[in-house]
Amino acid sequence: YTGKTGGQLFKDKLLKLKVKDFQSIPVVITEAASVYDAIVSMFLEDVGTLFVTDNQNKLVGIVSRKDLLRASMGKQDLEGIPVSIIMTRMPNVTVCYPEETMLETANKLISKQIDGLPVVKQDADGKLDVIGRLTKTNITKAFVELSREDG
Ligand code: ADP
Repeated sequence: YTGKTGGQLFKDKLLKLKVKDFQSIPVVITEAASVYDAIVSMFLEDVGTLFVTDNQNKLVGIVSRKDLLRASMGKQDLEGIPVSIIMTRMPNVTVCYPEETMLETANKLISKQIDGLPVVKQDADGKLDVIGRLTKTNITKAFVELSREDG
């Protein structure tokens, strides 16, 4: 008998839920892509957030649904505007790592009031490779996992 209370056991279980076990496939576009291209990929790939990379495939920004709606409100030519102009840019992108706990990512989503995070791996130059996507949906799945009897 460990002497642990129900609350402590629950927290132990919670802290075992890692990003790498719940992450989804990332959807990435290049910074030269147009706002129009971004809208098309968002629909085709059925995601709410696109990660933007440079020509070395390193993370440079992130584009959300509202970013694209805002850019579409004027009378601009959406095929002529690169996403790099409207994206949230590094270093202002909040990221997460595969070994992080789901609880940590949930805290990031809440405190930054955002829907998703790129899961990244830092390369030798300190730049970020995008290896996954972590959204509120993944957190919801982790929440359901907690209710399972075993484990
Ligand atoms: P939506 O705009 O569709 O409601 P979000 O709430 O996720 O989606 O995005 C709100 C704003 O925060 C957008 O301007 C977006 O570019 C930015 N954003 C989204 N995700 C991140 C992130 N991981 N790090 C920094 N900024 C982000």
